[in-house]
Amino acid sequence: MVILDNYSSIFIANWKLNGNSGFLKEYYEKLKVNSDNCTVICSPSIYLNYLEVKKDYLFSGAQDVSYYKNGAYTGELSASMLKDNNVNFCLVGHSERRQYFSETNNNIMIKSENLIDQNIIPVICIGETLEDKNNNLTEEVLSKQIKNSIPHVSNNQNTIIAYEPVWAIGTGLTPNLNEINQTHELIKNLVNKAKNFKVLYGGSVKSTNSKEINDLNQVDGCLIGGASLKVEEFNLIIS
Ligand code: PEP
Repeated sequence: MVILDNYSSIFIANWKLNGNSGFLKEYYEKLKVNSDNCTVICSPSIYLNYLEVKKDYLFSGAQDVSYYKNGAYTGELSASMLKDNNVNFCLVGHSERRQYFSETNNNIMIKSENLIDQNIIPVICIGETLEDKNNNLTEEVLSKQIKNSIPHVSNNQNTIIAYEPVWAIGTGLTPNLNEINQTHELIKNLVNKAKNFKVLYGGSVKSTNSKEINDLNQVDGCLIGGASLKVEEFNLIIS
């Protein structure tokens, strides 16, 4: 398993359903990783093998994994298959999967257990909607997500939490710096089992705001969607 404490920050690119072989070739030629930080590229699964995982600070990540370990589940990819293909990280419970693919906290917990079993680090995504926020339900929602989606086997070495306010994903909006820091502190203290976990911030991170967000004392790195698709922009974020 990757030793998370070896890095000052963790940056994860989530390409979602984007990219093709030409895009990947150019991206990997231009990508400039930095040995202080852990950089993870979550490409679509079919391209996971395109990344040469030779450096001990650049890793391949999946965007999802099957709930099942093997069997008659057409179209699925298991945690052991990811491991077999040099995948070290996997996003779990991204809000798009919760919203469009009906992913539940219980699914997320089982997927995370299967990943940990294979020495793959699950990056468990949590976050409130705008409606939750406006109704002052952020703490309640995050607490429920943590309680019901983080498996008992998780600890701060084998699991990462990504705080992604749903209303900030792909919108250009972010909470202010104080809010981000306070919510990360809340997550780290909310439930005992989340204590001292590395918590990444995700939601409209770009090169112009990444430094101030990542410099917050409760922020351990960033999860980047849209801005990670432009390699020059991503290079600036991780530099
Ligand atoms: C994401 O999808 O995980 C994400 C953070 O997206 P964006 O950076 O585009 O808001």
